[in-house]
Amino acid sequence: MQDTTVTEATPADATADAAAQPAPDRTPDVWDCLIVGGGPAGLTAAIYLARFHRRALVVDKGEGRMQMIPVSHNHAGYPDGVAGVALLDRMREQARQYGATLRTGEVVGLHRDGDGFRAETHDGAVRARTVLLATGVVNHRPPLDEAQHADAVARGLLRYCPICDAFEQTGKRIGVLGGDTHGLAEALFLRSYSRDITLLGLASVALTPDEQAQADAAGIRVVTTPVSSFDFGDEVRLTLDDGSTVVLDTLYAGLGSTTRNDLGRALGTDLCENQCFLTDDQQRTNVPGIYAAGDAVEGLDQISYAMGTAARAAVAIHNDLRDRDGQTLAE
Ligand SMILES: Cc1cc2nc3c(=O)[nH]c(=O)nc-3n(C[C@H](O)[C@H](O)[C@H](O)COP(=O)(O)OP(=O)(O)OC[C@H]3O[C@@H](n4cnc5c(N)ncnc54)[C@H](O)[C@@H]3O)c2cc1C
Repeated sequence: MQDTTVTEATPADATADAAAQPAPDRTPDVWDCLIVGGGPAGLTAAIYLARFHRRALVVDKGEGRMQMIPVSHNHAGYPDGVAGVALLDRMREQARQYGATLRTGEVVGLHRDGDGFRAETHDGAVRARTVLLATGVVNHRPPLDEAQHADAVARGLLRYCPICDAFEQTGKRIGVLGGDTHGLAEALFLRSYSRDITLLGLASVALTPDEQAQADAAGIRVVTTPVSSFDFGDEVRLTLDDGSTVVLDTLYAGLGSTTRNDLGRALGTDLCENQCFLTDDQQRTNVPGIYAAGDAVEGLDQISYAMGTAARAAVAIHNDLRDRDGQTLAE
């Protein structure tokens, strides 16, 4: 596991200057919080926890959705837009600056260990008093090879988030790949940006009569023949099973997503529809000591929401540890 921290922070010295910080029942090899995932959720939590003089370790395997963002125009504070990787770089710098430790790697197992947890990585075990799961989700992709997919996303020909970037597609020829109710819902959402919306599927699009009537009423073109191949040149050219083509300015993949919930699931965390982590209003899961934030929790899949839930989780983690250590006002 590559340790990418700038300062050689260890659990012991990350708080060395925090004279006011007592350290009851902790050994130097136990982190206050292991943060699994270094996207905007995990890094926001790392910044907050480090600034609470907490010993925070982020382990990130670097396959997040934020790094796929070519330019975000809806993230507040960046009127000219900001690239996902640029925002991540700045957040990493800020987290390190306050003493958080960032490592590249993957947490492959998580177990109870006394009143804390032991996490397995390919480079050994890590012990922590609490764990924040900021693991994100994986979008289901069209059948493209990795390079073709990355290129299409980078050039804005293939998109995943209408809330994020449909504004820039106003008035254009927009396709939605997703031949089911979810795909139709996305097509209807996009209808307020353009009159030219086409719904297509990898298998034949099958809508109920009511859904078809809604599509018709909204002027959405429903292509029932499956898409068989994709060409992302200057525009999007889709070839259908019958050999005909559909040409678009951009294509939204409305194929759903899967939450990376394995680590929590193994410990018995409650899930929403077997996907997102369910938490209380402080981001605590039902498993004491395990918290969740970002896309991996039920809510809005947006950077701002990832940051907001992570800030809330970090405060809860800090206060719950203070409580465990007898540092809060007795009730
Ligand atoms: C193409 C695209 C464009 C977007 N545009 C915008 C936009 O303009 N505005 C906006 O607000 N949102 C946008 N989004 C959504 C935004 O990217 C997400 O909401 C945000 O990244 C969620 O943050 P997160 O930290 O929860 O998850 P992620 O950013 O996905 O990060 C999760 C991290 O956890 C890591 N991880 C998972 N499991 C493990 C493990 N076991 N061990 C170690 N690491 C692990 C992953 O590798 C990843 O690095 C866009 C998304 C996409 C795909």
